[in-house]
Amino acid sequence: MPIVNGDARGLLSTNQGEIRDYTKALEVLKEYPDRDGLDVDTLLDSDKHGALTYNDFLILPGYIGFPASDVTLDTPVTKRISLKAPLLSSPMDTVTEHNMAIHMALLGGLGVIHHNCSPEDQAEMVRKVKRYENGFISEPVVLSPKTTVREAKELKAKWGFGGFPVTETGELRSKLVGIVTTRDIQFHDDLNQPVTAVMSTDLVTAPAGTTLPEANEVLRSSKKGKLPIVDSEGKLVSLLSRSDLMKNLHYPLASKLPDSKQLICAAAIGTRDADKERLKLLAEAGLDIVVLDSSQGNSLYQIEMIKYVKQTYPEIDVIAGNVVTREQAAALIAAGADGLRIGMGSGSACITQEVMAVGRPQALSVRRVASFAARFGVPCIADGGIQNVGHIVKGLAMGASTVMMGGLLAGTTESPGEYFVSNEGQLVKAYRGMGSIAAMEDTKAGKGSKDGKAANAGTARYFSEKDRVLVAQGVSGSVLDRGSVTKFVPYLIAGIQHSLQDIGVKSLKALHDGVNDKTVRFEVRSGSAQAEGNVHGLHSFDKKLYS
Ligand code: GDP
Ligand code: GDP
Ligand code: 5GP
Repeated sequence: MPIVNGDARGLLSTNQGEIRDYTKALEVLKEYPDRDGLDVDTLLDSDKHGALTYNDFLILPGYIGFPASDVTLDTPVTKRISLKAPLLSSPMDTVTEHNMAIHMALLGGLGVIHHNCSPEDQAEMVRKVKRYENGFISEPVVLSPKTTVREAKELKAKWGFGGFPVTETGELRSKLVGIVTTRDIQFHDDLNQPVTAVMSTDLVTAPAGTTLPEANEVLRSSKKGKLPIVDSEGKLVSLLSRSDLMKNLHYPLASKLPDSKQLICAAAIGTRDADKERLKLLAEAGLDIVVLDSSQGNSLYQIEMIKYVKQTYPEIDVIAGNVVTREQAAALIAAGADGLRIGMGSGSACITQEVMAVGRPQALSVRRVASFAARFGVPCIADGGIQNVGHIVKGLAMGASTVMMGGLLAGTTESPGEYFVSNEGQLVKAYRGMGSIAAMEDTKAGKGSKDGKAANAGTARYFSEKDRVLVAQGVSGSVLDRGSVTKFVPYLIAGIQHSLQDIGVKSLKALHDGVNDKTVRFEVRSGSAQAEGNVHGLHSFDKKLYS
């Protein structure tokens, strides 16, 4: 029992009379006309508060009635395709090539492969993503009995896997005669011998028509690395790999197609005629989603390209953009866009707003476009300006279904390029805007394309072939080492789950519903509120974000 000096409650001042029946608190709350805080429309009323972006506001806490781990983050990225994590990596040549695309997809998000390379190189990257994980491998690399051990070794070096079925003709749908695995050829010195000299012929197979769970069970119990599927005449139909069982186990959130179990792959192209040729190669490599990469998406060229893609490749979804206004969005939705990318000038390496005087603060852009697009069931990506978990959640709260990150992911192990030590002695990686002079000059020089021709197009969104002067819309620089996305992305996901728990919503849909029905509330942050919300008054500190 604390020591008290009379009844302390009497010292409190109230101009509405004191209530001593505490059970009435929730009832008395109803006397107030509004919930505490601002609804989203009042928050974003630019007459009152100016045009806001992420740092200018906060989301008010709600009621926690569940553990953070119960929060689900399933979300659409196009009209037809959904992900388990709302995280995308940007199509930039310092951010997303196949390695980033594979890992973003394994971890539940999606990487969009950049196009500042030749169409052939980009298609090769798409192929690597699509080959990475499989249910049934429907088009396995097959050897003929005449293939030499040397050739088998070369194929392993090319593809990264070394388990090859051998059939009579060297083709699929021909009689299976054996299997060559990495161990068969690893220490075999006579490179000119045919693979028949080293292959295993005592094979465990399963008949065509076996379901995936059944085939997986055979693979588990046989303890073999590969399971060929054969028809009634012993002809090879497809192949299963044990390592895919492990991948499935290790990456439960992976963004995969339900039937093939292959990773979902997205890649960017421009809106020139040559991009139609590029898209043809990407489609042949198995592309699922194409992102039309323009900084101002509301153009004749993009509208025509959307229609062309929808007509020519109905199986590929199109994400159009970038847009920041309802009017821009309406034009692209009408043309058939399956998703929209929102942002102009908010990227960390971007100087568009300064140079072109065009753009819009990102939080407002996302709300205006996403609330309109939602009426047509078109999901939106909040692209650019994401510096931390808080920004991700704010982008989502403004109505985005996913966020796209460039700078935040550029310093990870999976981004292209090597780490180097900066002048200050820190480990960094290069990061550059696709509209930076450095990136545009590489494009003009055809750097990165095999034949040296200017077949690259990744910076086409920032200049046209006829331009004699390159006007930069981005800068080139470096970002600090962030380790592997296999640690960083799970941290982002856990962070979003905790944030949604604080807000009191159990899913992204519940977040969007709460914002729309005005139960999720906001507050504008003054300059000093922003200072208060950051670390302050400490002599020194260590800002370690996760362990
Ligand atoms: P291997 O034992 O050397 O063949 O390699 P792993 O079994 O470790 O990995 C093979 C991975 O490559 C699996 O994820 C397969 O789904 C994938 N893959 C894609 N296409 C093929 C293919 O044609 N043959 C084989 N063996 N694997 C493929
Ligand atoms: P679930 O039934 O909700 O787990 O749905 P999934 O699509 O995850 O799995 C259905 C079946 O496919 C299960 O037997 C999984 O083990 C199997 N499966 C899922 N992904 C893969 C994969 O990448 N490769 C293989 N071989 N099997 C997979
Ligand atoms: P970040 O995550 O680094 O803040 O922003 C990444 C986004 O910036 C990209 O997805 C893209 O939309 C945009 N971006 C990339 N390069 C440039 C550029 O050079 N200029 C402009 N204006 N935007 C860029």
